[in-house]
Amino acid sequence: MTQALFREDAYQAETEATVLLSEPHGVALDRTVFYPQGGGQSGDQGTLELEDGTVLPIVNTVYDSDRATILHVPAEGAALPRLAMRVIARIDWERRYKRMRAHTALHLLSVVAPYPVTGGSVGDADGRLDFDSGEAPLDKADIERRLNALIALDAAVSHRWIADAELEANPSLIKTMSVKPPMGTGRVRLIAIEGLDLQPCGGTHVARTGEIGRASVTGIEKKGKINRRVRIALGSA
Ligand SMILES: [Zn+2]
Repeated sequence: MTQALFREDAYQAETEATVLLSEPHGVALDRTVFYPQGGGQSGDQGTLELEDGTVLPIVNTVYDSDRATILHVPAEGAALPRLAMRVIARIDWERRYKRMRAHTALHLLSVVAPYPVTGGSVGDADGRLDFDSGEAPLDKADIERRLNALIALDAAVSHRWIADAELEANPSLIKTMSVKPPMGTGRVRLIAIEGLDLQPCGGTHVARTGEIGRASVTGIEKKGKINRRVRIALGSA
């Protein structure tokens, strides 16, 4: 099991850690700042700096089959660290920060378009959500205007943990129909955007909505009779 430091502080870009597993398909550490692919967000890239100064490029981060161990996927053919070796794990911060901004923008998009979310993904300073919006008209200019108004509020984003039982008693907290929040560990992480939104989420977010910067709605597509895909893109922060 890997201690997931990004769950408490998404801004921590590096940590010292100890190697627990070292295989060509993945290196596991006792703790990490690398976010593993999941919830529509890609895995972090970065490096592991070994004791002898060698820098091992990490091309992706994934969960192992136990869903508790995080695997840093090394570049093909790279020399692997020894077990129990101390390393410095460093993420590609610029890449991650764009994803934090885009991911937080999608929370706000779900406030602007308050319909059940059936899917979504976070890209490199862009993202999309799929909604079952029924016959409700989704107007590109209107969504964009309201989304930017929420960003401009510069609302604080914070997290807290609640017991599984508390979430089960408040099912309306869950907006995504396709991605159920990870339950079974006894607790669930709730992300609150001050005065605007509260939902379970395991992803990485910025601390204030103002950090998202200017957002554009780049497209609204019809995916089915009642399903619409809304795409957004962010300017450079
Ligand atoms: Zn989130």
